[in-house]
Amino acid sequence: MELIILCLWMLAILDVSWTRALDRLLVVSFDGFRYDYLNRSLTPNIQNLIRQSTYSERILSVFPSQTFPNHFSIATGRYVEEHGVLANELMDLQTQEIYKFGYKLFHYNETTVPIWTLNELKKEGRHSGCMMWVGCSMAYQGTNGTYSVEFDLSIPWDDRIEKSVSWFTDPVKPANLVMLYFESPDQEGHIYGPDSPETNAQIQRVDKTVQKLLQVLKAKNLSDVNLVVLSDHGMESVTLPRIINLTGVIGDDGKWLGTSPVLQIYPNKGKTDALYERLQEFSKRNGHFDVYKKQDIPEIYHYKNCDRAPPILAVAKPKYGFHDLYSWIDEIKKKHKLTVTNQTEFGVHGYDPQTLSMQPFFIAKGPKFEKGLKLDKPLKVVDLYGIFADVLGLKASPVEPYNRKLLHPVRSPLVAQESTHLTLALVGYTLASLIALTALFTLFILFRRRQEMRNLGYTLVDKDESGI
Ligand SMILES: [Zn+2]
Repeated sequence: MELIILCLWMLAILDVSWTRALDRLLVVSFDGFRYDYLNRSLTPNIQNLIRQSTYSERILSVFPSQTFPNHFSIATGRYVEEHGVLANELMDLQTQEIYKFGYKLFHYNETTVPIWTLNELKKEGRHSGCMMWVGCSMAYQGTNGTYSVEFDLSIPWDDRIEKSVSWFTDPVKPANLVMLYFESPDQEGHIYGPDSPETNAQIQRVDKTVQKLLQVLKAKNLSDVNLVVLSDHGMESVTLPRIINLTGVIGDDGKWLGTSPVLQIYPNKGKTDALYERLQEFSKRNGHFDVYKKQDIPEIYHYKNCDRAPPILAVAKPKYGFHDLYSWIDEIKKKHKLTVTNQTEFGVHGYDPQTLSMQPFFIAKGPKFEKGLKLDKPLKVVDLYGIFADVLGLKASPVEPYNRKLLHPVRSPLVAQESTHLTLALVGYTLASLIALTALFTLFILFRRRQEMRNLGYTLVDKDESGI
């Protein structure tokens, strides 16, 4: 009888532990914030945040180190060859259709489940909110996030903060995960270069925005929300004389697509070898870009094992770009009334993620993260999904049917402790199981003994009945 009471008691503990509040997470991205922008003495509020946080000075973006591929890899834990967002725009090789931002670009692989969808699918009163995060405003596996605001640069930054933080406190459907996006300092980095006063002004704006965000969280009694502040890639400067014009080499033998420093090249039928050889020969003479046939694209890029990978890929070396920049420079010259000389610096990103200037930063503060911990080596963008899932008490592995080694999440030392209710539940289950097994085993032994005695012709007499 005591055993049964003990089992029931353990189950009661389990019930209590499962109904505890959900762990909450707010992920904030500032596009194109190079890791060393934090060394310019322009960011006192972010420095203060770092002191209370786990900090990875640099993170390794996925190749190409561009916005759509990296925001989607942050959200899914997958390299581009798995989730299929190889670039901000690409061509479907079967249909020749060009995909820009839209449903098809983000739905190459239906087994890809972004963190906001994983959270919603788990039910348990979980709700996800997305403020302009790349790819977040559409359904995955037929499921939309509870809250979503589509990409709209006209929305003031303060409004984005107020709106997205309010999702946590909704009385009916409180969010436990919110993804929040800001487009700077990427934009100014492109137009004026990473070392310009305009970019520095945006770095300061980001710093003040972080301060504002912390104030809003505190005012709404949300200081226990786990907060991740990061960026998707860095920025490198390019000048006019460093632009490589491939149009004459490609000629009429194919089309090109993409943005510097990575161009996808689609040869006409039967022209792949000839076009590749011409590009290869030009690459040797020029020395400032690499050109690959699809099968020769370096494995480390995790790019080529995908139907969407182009037959030929050209990748400029850091500080260089391709001819697509000419029309873009013309546009911004008019729009921003710029005077452009051979010394004028613009900003470009997309190079090999190992390039230091391509690397952004990662800061994580809250009850699930160590305080004052600086990581020794850069985190990888594809590891962030596992970290987010862990913080939220979600299991990421069931949605990772590809190579587990690629997607293996970093868990310690980032996550300070396992979710308390999960630990309690585990202890409870183990104890209850042990007690139940012991009880069953004892009953079985007693039954066996009784049978053996009977077989030997004895009549068992209870101790109490014997009068001893
Ligand atoms: Zn950019």
